[in-house]
Amino acid sequence: MEFTEKALVLKVGRFRETDIWVRLFCAGRGLITAFAFGGSRSTRRFCGCLDQLVLGTFRVGSNRRGSYMILEEGTLLNAFPGLRADSRKLGLVAHCLKFVEAVQIGQQGARPAFELLLETLDTLEGSEVGAEMLPLLFKAKLTFEQGLKPDLTLCVCCGRMAWQHAGGAPPAVAESPAAAQTLAFSVERGGLVCAACGDPQAEPMSAGAVRALEWIGQSRPADWPRLMLDPVMRRQLGRVVDRFVAYHLGLQWEYGMYRKI
Ligand SMILES: [Zn+2]
Repeated sequence: MEFTEKALVLKVGRFRETDIWVRLFCAGRGLITAFAFGGSRSTRRFCGCLDQLVLGTFRVGSNRRGSYMILEEGTLLNAFPGLRADSRKLGLVAHCLKFVEAVQIGQQGARPAFELLLETLDTLEGSEVGAEMLPLLFKAKLTFEQGLKPDLTLCVCCGRMAWQHAGGAPPAVAESPAAAQTLAFSVERGGLVCAACGDPQAEPMSAGAVRALEWIGQSRPADWPRLMLDPVMRRQLGRVVDRFVAYHLGLQWEYGMYRKI
C-alpha cells in the first residue's frame, strides 16, 4: 500500500537514535501513525515537515508485511508561523489537536473534519477568537459534523415546536426579554425539551444560548471572530457542549487532556 496525501502533523516523537514517529491527520483517511526511519537526519526527504502543526503533502508506504506504515517523503505546505509566534494561540491550537486525536477520526468523516481544522487554524492565525470560546466552538462544530447535530427546532419529547427560533440569525450579545426565555436541552436525547414537557435532567438554556448553538451549527470558522456572548450564555453553552461530547463521544476534558469515559 502506498499513497500520497495532504496531512497535518499532530504529534512527533523520537525512537532510537535517528528514527521518528509521526501522528498524521490525513485529509481523506483520518488519523494514522507512520515511522520516518532516519527522519532526524534526512533533511532532503522531510525538509521542515517533521514537526507538530505542519501541513504537508506526505508519501506513505508500508513495510513488506503491511504491519506498519512508513513515511517516505514530505513536502512542506504551511508551518503556520503566525500561530507559532503566539503562545496563547498555540495553546488553543493544542486543545483542538488533542480533541481531533481523541475523537479518533477514521476514513469516514475525515474530509469535513480536516477542512474544519484547517479553516480553524487559518482563522486563528489571521484574527482573534476569544480564548474561552475557540475550543468550545471547535468541539461543538466537529461533533456536529460527525453526524451528531442536535435537533434545535422540535421538542424531543412531544415533537411540537420547542420555541420561536429565528432560523439562523446571528445571536445578539445582550439578551432581549424574549431571548431570556428559559428552555432546556436534553443531552441524552440530543435536542430541546419544551417548557410544557419539562425534563429535570435537561440543562437549562436561555433562548439566546439556543440561538447561539443554532448559529454555531451553521457557521464556518471564518465567522467565529464575530461571535460575542455574555458570560451566562457562554457558561450554559459550555456546559451543554461538554456534556454532549461526554455522552455521545465518551470524551471528557480533564487536567489538560481528553480522557475516554
Ligand atoms: Zn414538548
